[in-house]
Amino acid sequence: MKILVLNSGSSSIKYQLFRCADWQVLAAGAIERIGEGHGELTLTWMDGSGTWRNERTDAPSATHHDGLKRIIASLRGIGALADASELTAVGHRVVHGGEGFHTPTVVDDDVIAAIRQMIPLAPLHNPANLDGILVARALFPTVPQVAVFDTAFHQTMPRTAYRYAIPDYLYREHRVRRYGFHGTSHQFVGQRAAAWLGRSFGQVNLITLHLGNGASATAIRRGSSIDTSMGMTPLEGLVMGTRCGDIDPAVHFYLGEHLGLDNQTLEELLNRQSGLLGLCGVNDMRQILRLAEDGDSNAELAIGITCHRIRKYIGAYYAELGTVDAIVFTGGIGENAAEIRARACAGLERLGIEIDATANSAAASGERSIARPGSAVQVLVIPTNEELQIAREALEAVG
Ligand code: ADP
Repeated sequence: MKILVLNSGSSSIKYQLFRCADWQVLAAGAIERIGEGHGELTLTWMDGSGTWRNERTDAPSATHHDGLKRIIASLRGIGALADASELTAVGHRVVHGGEGFHTPTVVDDDVIAAIRQMIPLAPLHNPANLDGILVARALFPTVPQVAVFDTAFHQTMPRTAYRYAIPDYLYREHRVRRYGFHGTSHQFVGQRAAAWLGRSFGQVNLITLHLGNGASATAIRRGSSIDTSMGMTPLEGLVMGTRCGDIDPAVHFYLGEHLGLDNQTLEELLNRQSGLLGLCGVNDMRQILRLAEDGDSNAELAIGITCHRIRKYIGAYYAELGTVDAIVFTGGIGENAAEIRARACAGLERLGIEIDATANSAAASGERSIARPGSAVQVLVIPTNEELQIAREALEAVG
């Protein structure tokens, strides 16, 4: 039996097809630029002889429906998915589940209505996620669709962590609170870290750092999220590729009043023109590290602010947790940028967090420790795999 995982964005659908027996990826890829008249389908799969193959084809798709049909046709073409009856479930990434969803959920009309209700809180993501679900439901009417929410893992946060200090009715009537995101990734690397430590997830305290284009930190106490850096939306918290992260809300009023910027412009400014891009003109960390090495002072500052913010969250979450078994780095930056890891943990030796410079900078991949032998707190690099986590959770949800 197989599970298809879909991550449906506003103009793309990313997919992976897993074999449930051993979680082998049978095929993966994306259809991009849906609705733009000149789409493209990428497909990576293992052929009968065990060799990985890549294919890129023109696939103009007017709608998500067209796009998913093309994906299914290509899976059929390579023999990875002959018939819908081979599918145990389709797992869907859904960004915002609000307060209603603590676990992966088999989709029915009520779930669809609830995801739709959350659109005002995630206007960029939930409509596209929902589109993916509706299209998959139409194309595979007999296969269970499972929604896996980015917010679900953080639903264990206590009120003291998730409420903002603003008038009560804004929470009661308008659902203004912190939800947190990247939950699937924090949970996945947290579980892997527990396995690495030889303990169960419910026995470990962790600080997980998902550092990609979007970035967030999570405090995990005995397997449950007790705090996370993203808030009502993915704008709060760490410095990101193009998002500012934590900022005094009075900056909005100031910019509105003195620069005459309206809400839409401010949203664009803080979500798409800030973060690393705003600080140094580039949002790709590889390039920023090279620029800094060549003496670019803005790139150096962008790295400095990024690491300062990560260190601040490590300290805050350490205080919340009391004891920490491991710090876990993941995401494109967390998995690959040794300098960011080293600088984010610099000066934390008195907290028992000691990085081994050689292990940290070794050209390695996969799960590994970068802690100095004897470091009281383990420091791990664990590649995230949100698709695999979604596939496993989808299987669990359908029993
Ligand atoms: P997304 O949030 O879009 O999934 P990723 O997790 O792929 O993003 O992370 C993208 C970020 O990771 C980019 O800033 C990229 O420059 C950075 N990155 C990827 N590889 C490296 C590397 N070898 N060294 C430094 N940064 C890297």
